[in-house]
Amino acid sequence: MLIVQKYGGSSLRNPERIKVLAKRIATLKERKKYSMVIVVSALGDTTDRLLRLSSQVCSDPPQRELDMLISTGEQISASLLTMALCSFGKRAISLTGRQSGIITDNFHTRARILSIDPGRLKRLLEEDNIVVVAGFQGITSESEITTLGRGGSDLTAVALAVALKADRCEIYTDVEGVYTADPKIVPEARRLKRISYEEMLELSSVGAKVLQLRAVEMAEKHNVHLYVASSFNPKRGTLISGRNR
Ligand code: ASP
Ligand code: MG
Repeated sequence: MLIVQKYGGSSLRNPERIKVLAKRIATLKERKKYSMVIVVSALGDTTDRLLRLSSQVCSDPPQRELDMLISTGEQISASLLTMALCSFGKRAISLTGRQSGIITDNFHTRARILSIDPGRLKRLLEEDNIVVVAGFQGITSESEITTLGRGGSDLTAVALAVALKADRCEIYTDVEGVYTADPKIVPEARRLKRISYEEMLELSSVGAKVLQLRAVEMAEKHNVHLYVASSFNPKRGTLISGRNR
């Protein structure tokens, strides 16, 4: 059983949370013996912080340099989570987008994935590593670092699930799945247990920030069932698939 899990920045906000997450992943690995790929976003609001820094030194930074800058956030998360996994005695390794074989076009800050060569990832999984991948980033055929648009770690997770033919793709964020409306604004909003790709695409395109739009599009195209849940309450989530009941 091969499972891809993605964790957002709020699950990795500080060292304590990183350790809690590592413990959870290590326990799951021990119990279920899954092959596991973990895709991570940057810690907390790192990406916004980096973008603010860039605007303080340049009013119109070159897009290529923005990618050089904002791709660093995910690399920090991947290496720290891997270290925490190692401290729990797990065999784990972190990979950048490039090391995971993610090739994109050269549309900086909003690049599209052209292909994935999962050879190295597969070998590492066969050696029973938990493979932690820096989300949101790839590389062009000219070795330029690219990023996949805001929220792009979701896309990394779905694309790797497709390339590896994963049995499950789970996206853990700071919301408990998908609601009929924003629960912060509409108190009687209900959490949906299931929702179709089509309905999810509608929600994403009107700005519900649960999942990146492109990630849902790719999931639909390849019929990857996506399970979206809160990293703090993994049991209550929403399954996004081809039909809604
Ligand atoms: N860290 C990036 C962003 O904030 C990618 C992601 O979170 O998925 O957009
Ligand atoms: Mg982020």
